[in-house]
This record gives sequence, C-alpha cells and structure tokens, in this order.
Amino acid sequence: MNDTKNKFFNTSIQYLKGVGEKRAEALNKAGIFTFGDLLHYYPRRYLDRSNITKIKNLKIDETATIVGTIQTCGIQKGKRSRFVMLVTDNTGYLSCVWFNQINYWQKKFKTGQLIAVSGKVGYFGGKQIVHPDFDLLSDEEDNHSNEFFNTGKIIPLYPSSEALSRVGMDSRGFRRVLKFLAQSNIDKITETLPDFLISKLNLLDLPTALLNIHFPDDFQSLQLARQRLKFEELFLLEFMLAFRKYKLHQEEKGIVFNEVGNRTKLLAEKLPFDLTEAQKKVLREIRRDMKKPHPMYRLIQGDVGSGKTIVALVTMLIAVENGYQAALMAPTEILAEQHFLTFKQMLEEMEVNIQLLVGAQKKSEREAILESIGNGETNIVIGTHAIIQQNVNFKKLGLIVIDEQHRFGVSQRAELTGKGVNPDVLIMTATPIPRTLSLTVYGDLDISIIDKLPTGRKPVITSWRYYNKRDDIYKFVKSIIDKGKQAYVVFPLVEESEKLDLKAATESYDNLSQGIFANNKIALLHGRMKNEEKDEIMSRFKNGEIQVLVSTTVIEVGVDVPNATIMVIENGERFGLTQLHQLRGRVGRGADQSYCILIARFPLSEDASTRLNTMVETTDGFKIAEVDLQLRGPGEFFGTRQHGMPELKIANPLKDTSILQKARAEAFRVFEKNDELNETITLLKQNSFFSQFFDKIEMMRIG
Ligand code: ADP
Ligand code: MG
Repeated sequence: MNDTKNKFFNTSIQYLKGVGEKRAEALNKAGIFTFGDLLHYYPRRYLDRSNITKIKNLKIDETATIVGTIQTCGIQKGKRSRFVMLVTDNTGYLSCVWFNQINYWQKKFKTGQLIAVSGKVGYFGGKQIVHPDFDLLSDEEDNHSNEFFNTGKIIPLYPSSEALSRVGMDSRGFRRVLKFLAQSNIDKITETLPDFLISKLNLLDLPTALLNIHFPDDFQSLQLARQRLKFEELFLLEFMLAFRKYKLHQEEKGIVFNEVGNRTKLLAEKLPFDLTEAQKKVLREIRRDMKKPHPMYRLIQGDVGSGKTIVALVTMLIAVENGYQAALMAPTEILAEQHFLTFKQMLEEMEVNIQLLVGAQKKSEREAILESIGNGETNIVIGTHAIIQQNVNFKKLGLIVIDEQHRFGVSQRAELTGKGVNPDVLIMTATPIPRTLSLTVYGDLDISIIDKLPTGRKPVITSWRYYNKRDDIYKFVKSIIDKGKQAYVVFPLVEESEKLDLKAATESYDNLSQGIFANNKIALLHGRMKNEEKDEIMSRFKNGEIQVLVSTTVIEVGVDVPNATIMVIENGERFGLTQLHQLRGRVGRGADQSYCILIARFPLSEDASTRLNTMVETTDGFKIAEVDLQLRGPGEFFGTRQHGMPELKIANPLKDTSILQKARAEAFRVFEKNDELNETITLLKQNSFFSQFFDKIEMMRIG
C-alpha cells in the first residue's frame, strides 16, 4: 500500500540541501520530519509594501511594521541592563529594546542588517518598541528578500522559535530552504486531491498552490493558494467523518430495540413533571434510531438545566426492556454518584438492577460489581471512565450514554464502543457549539437539540463586582440562606497553581465559616478529598443539611440541587466562559429566582471583562459559546490529534464557512455516489494521518 504514498513528500528533511544534522534535529522537534511537513509549514504572515509604515509616519500606541537597517546596536548596562538597537529607514529612527536574554541578542544582530520590526510603538526619548516581533530580512543568500526591495515582491515570514533560530532556522532560514525545495522540485510534487474535485471547484493544483503559499507573486495568487490548501484540509476532515458515518455507522449491523415495555410507561407516570416538547421530540428521534438495524450514534445538545438526564434514563430503560445492558459514563465521580442516586430513586420497584462503578471502590466491592456486570445480573451501570477499563466485561451491552461529552476524547469513545457488539451510542453535551463547528467536531453523528428549558424557570440574575464589594455580597448571600435556600461559593483551581489555589480556597473557607456564616452550616469540598468524604458532603448538601457549600470547580458539571439558588464565584476573572456558564447552571434549577455573583480582582484584562460582561448579559448557552469561540479560537474543539482529527494548519472552520460547507458536501457526496470513492481514498492515503486512520479502521473491521 505504501507505493501509493507520495515519495517526495515522505522524504526525510535531512536529505534537503542546507539541512544538516543539527537543523534536522531542531526541525524534528518542531514537528517537521519530511519534505511534506516542510512544504506544509506555512508562513505566519507576509510582508509587502502595502503593510509597511515609514518610521516618520509611526503613531504612538499603534501597532505597525517598519523595515529598515540596523544603525547601531549593543548592550546598555544599568540597573536593568538592556539590549538596544537603533533602526533607520531614511525617514527617521526607531529604537528597539530587549530586557531579557540580552547576550543572545547581542550575538544575533549586527549593524547593517536589514530587518522588519513589528509591535506597539511607544515613546521613550524617541519612538520605541519594547520586545518587538522581528524578522531579519536579507543577507547574501536570501535572494528573495533582496529582490523584494527592488521588485516589490511579497516576502513570507515564518514562525520560528529560539531553538530553531539558534540553528539558523529563523524566518530567513526557512525562506532559504523552502525556496530551494519548492522551486527546484516542483515537478516532483504530485497531486493529492482527485481530479474531479479540482476541475469541478476550480482549485489550484497542488504544486502551484504550494509554490504560491510560500512565494506568491501577488495577493491574488496567494488567495487562490490559500483556498486550495484550506479546502484540502477541510475535505480530508469531512471525508474522515463521512467515512466513519457511512462505513462504520451505517453499514454495521446494530441492535433492533423494538419493545417499549411496562417499565418505561411506569417511569413516565412516576415523573413529578411533564416532559417538555423538546424532550419528547428528542426521545422520538432516539426511538427511531433504536428501532433501526444499525447502531445509533446520536448527540444531544441541550443547554445546562434543559433536562438531559431524564432523556438518558428513558433511553437506558428501553435498552433494558429489550434484554440488554446499558451503561452511562459521566466525567466526574460526583456526577456518576448523583446520576446513580437519581436513577435508583426513579427506578424504585421496577426490578432494574443498577450499579455504580467508580475508581475509588474497595476491591471486594468492585469485584462483586464486575461479576454481576459480566453475568448479566446488572442491567444498568453508571460510572466514570472506570467503565472503559479493560477488565470490565459486559454480558450484553446494548447502549452507551456518555454524559457531558466535551470531557471525553473521540478515542475514549471508541474504546467504549468496543465493549459491546455495536451498541447504540448516545452522547449528551451541555456545551452548545455553533452549527459550523458541530459539522467538524461531531460531523459523524446525528444531532438532536433540546432547545427549550422546562417552563417556569426564571433566568438567573447575574452580576459581577470588584473584590472590594465582597462583604456586601456575602451579606446578600446570608439574607438568601436565611430564607431557607442554599448557596455555592466557588473558587478557581487550576493544575499549575493547585497548591496555592487550594490554600486560597481553604483560607477563605475558614474566614467565612468563622465570620459571616459562623451560625450557618457550611462545608468545604475539593478534589483532593477522599471520595467518601466528598460523597458525604454532597449528599448532606443535597438533603439540605449544609447551607453553604464552598468548593473548587469539582461541582462544575451536572450537580443538581434545585434548592440552591445563589452562587458566588470568587476570582471570576480566572475562569473560562464555558466554565462559568456550566457553573452558573448549578443554580436556577427550580422555580425560585436564582442569583450568580462573580467577584473579580482589579485590574481586568480585556478578555476577562468581555467574559464577565457576557455572563451578565445572557444566559443563552449558544450565545455564550459564540463569544467563547471568538475569544479562544476554535483550536480547543478540534484539530488536536488526541481527538483523532487531523490538525488544521491553515483552515479555520469558523471563518472559512463557505469552504467548509463545500468540503463537507463533496466529501459526503463521494460516499453517496460511490463511484469516485476508491480513487479518492487512494489519493488521500498519501496523507499519513489519513492513511493511519484508514488502516486502523480496516483493522477494526477485519478484527
Ligand atoms: P441537564 O440538561 O443540565 O443535565 P438535568 O437533567 O439535570 O439538566 O435537569 C435539570 C433539572 O430540571 C432537574 O432537577 C430535573 O429534574 C428537572 N427537569 C427535567 N425535565 C424537566 C421537565 N420537563 N419539567 C420540569 N423539570 C424538569
Ligand atoms: Mg446533566
């Protein structure tokens, strides 16, 4: 099969002229192993005459790029030694200053070098940029940038790092090796997209696209190159999703769940509320899937509090009624425990054997549970990722529900589905994402949306205050709990500063419990506690014995205590937006008015204040997700290899929506029409990521 792969692309970079052992090593560390990797190492931006400012026209506080020669440079000793460089372009002087690694800069720069400098312009006895972004432009070997000044060409600037630039692989170094690679070998680059796509969509061929992405003659050809390369990335992604959907999901034989038995009807009667129309609609969609002879792969998107749990329970009960086992996988032990208790209560007197499986159980207990899962006595298993461990064997697993999917990677999903004979899979997520993103992240799944909250819910009143208002805030909390309600106080805890964070939370807990809440029942909950201790605190909070729960983010997802109507989030500026939304979802779960107050420390970054203001302005998970995406970029959602998706180097599904839609339509069409399928697979297999994916899937199908 290797013969179909692109030999030129797979040639090791050590065979490239100008790349010796040291460079090869540094490039490898940066993820560049082959000619193909190098050709797909795209410029981070381009310099041309239109985006260069003359020094005399620079404005203070604005960000700009200038090009000039180094007039003088050197270290200035003082209280804080610095490296200072004076650059001129014949219209004026700009000084550039570095405070760190001054000896390194001293070695790097020399008078007379041509340099492009970017950054925010300040003033310190003259125009100045501190720690500028820079690119050395020319030397004898770098013809391209020499040409630039004479002919007005566009000059590519490459991402680099200190390690790379130490071996000469700064922007200039990349230009040099790429120039050679792209120009002298252009005829060795073979096409990686099928011809029918190239002609139908009028795309540039690959050699031209690669040449132009690195060394464009003008912006129009750059634009065309970008389009072609973006399309290819998105097409590959969508093709993999289509592959999963058609080859794995639709062609596989699944279980036909026909029965809706007495117990399911009984449950419906037992519910203390009527299902919302949105819940009913989603349940109908699930029923339809379950009856089909192929496995279900359905994602339920529903905002926090929309009532996904009950939908999961009904679905699991249907599986049980049909003689199968069902498993629910939750992201935290607290959540697994909570689902376990809820389900147990709801399924009382229904002859359903339900078990909890979490990492922390005693060995003997665990073995007993494993046995009853193995011999089929257990109908429903609730657990954390402990469920996907190897020694868990089901007798007849028919359905898997994954709660709060954003915490599970695709690979974990795959491990779980390996446990049954093509079980149905239901994934629930409370992180609404824009449609274009769901086409890439969940593109192989069918999607149901619970788009309405149960009636009678009042939106949580949210506000944020600076730290100096803290006393007033807690007085307000006190007034609410004195009316019989309960409160959450949440502290941030991140891995990098875990110890400090824990200390801060514990100290504040001490202050609160000895101060304003001295006469109230208050408890501390954090991830470092023993499980029994956590469970005990959670259940005491649940049944109202604890009035104020001070906790770290362990309560972030799923926790359901409707009598808790107020939440204070300390250091609100440190949380991400989705996380804040999830946390806030712990209140506002009953009919009473709920509150969420975010406490922030001064000064706030621009992003932090956007996050806080967004929380105040809206409770709509979709809107929040959009803002979050704008702030963080889409990187967190996909494109990471750990999610089993190819990395996106140039395409951005949020911005390149029309290319994405085209790519998706074409990828899915290839599967439906089928006659171009083999040709397409053969070509895409030149891409090592795809060929690995393909091999893995073939193995799964054979094995
Ligand atoms: P989430 O979608 O965030 O997982 P839950 O399933 O935990 O939400 O439901 C939130 C709360 O709403 C729970 O207390 C649940 O019992 C309640 N609930 C669910 N469905 C309804 C409904 N149709 N009417 C009223 N309350 C409901
Ligand atoms: Mg939930």
